[in-house]
Amino acid sequence: MNLKSTLFGAAIIASFPILTATAETKVVAHRGFWNTENSAQNSLASFAKADSIGCFGSEIDVWLTTDDHLVVNHDKVYQGLFMETAPFEDIRALRLPNGEKIPTLDEYLAEVRKHPDTRLVLEMKSLTDYSREDVSANRIAELLRKHGVLDRTDIIVFSLNAAMTFRKLFPTGVKIFYLDGDLSPKKVKKLGLNGIDYSVKVLKKHPEWVKQAHDNGIEVNVWTANTEEDMKYFIDLGVDYITTDHPDTLVKLLDSYKPKSNKKNKKS
Ligand code: MG
Repeated sequence: MNLKSTLFGAAIIASFPILTATAETKVVAHRGFWNTENSAQNSLASFAKADSIGCFGSEIDVWLTTDDHLVVNHDKVYQGLFMETAPFEDIRALRLPNGEKIPTLDEYLAEVRKHPDTRLVLEMKSLTDYSREDVSANRIAELLRKHGVLDRTDIIVFSLNAAMTFRKLFPTGVKIFYLDGDLSPKKVKKLGLNGIDYSVKVLKKHPEWVKQAHDNGIEVNVWTANTEEDMKYFIDLGVDYITTDHPDTLVKLLDSYKPKSNKKNKKS
């Protein structure tokens, strides 16, 4: 064995504790860290602020406008405008509560690039027509490639059509999570997706889905766990990610909280 392979072997052994450490629950800021000064849901500031408190990831929502612009916002109807049917120019005239314009995805990804330690969790909003969803997915893929952030982006979708379109666009290397809560992890795995991202309500009804997901080699995210009681419940259950409107609370909690042993649900 030459020196290089000896060192490589040592590196593998040394990396084992690090690998097991990654099985801990991670924090995803829901619509960014908006619940703080000078921030707002889905604002550029909310991504920077999520990064500043050490979130693992920060989530955004992306709409495709009628004139094919990608904009970052949650609501289907925001300040009286329908995101899917209003012209881009009208949407840009609106202001978020912190004074920012509604960001384009292009602007948002430029911000994401400035914060390499925080992952982007990108939700593509379902659209009224599958062909529009396909346009949206293709354009999102183009922009992720353009900004070079594919390796630190996870895609989340309610629409199975969008999930399958993304899977074709990214056969490997990009994680796609399904949000709608109506499929078992086994079925989600069969569709070739990488995880479930289900509501607190769904996962409390099916706590066994955490183990089933891990047994099938896929991951679990839960939304939106906002009370300490729910946060502790899902840490104990062994989910991989918790999406929350109070990422600052969860970051602190994870620092001190000793999870009740539930190793059987954890990823090995
Ligand atoms: Mg969302």
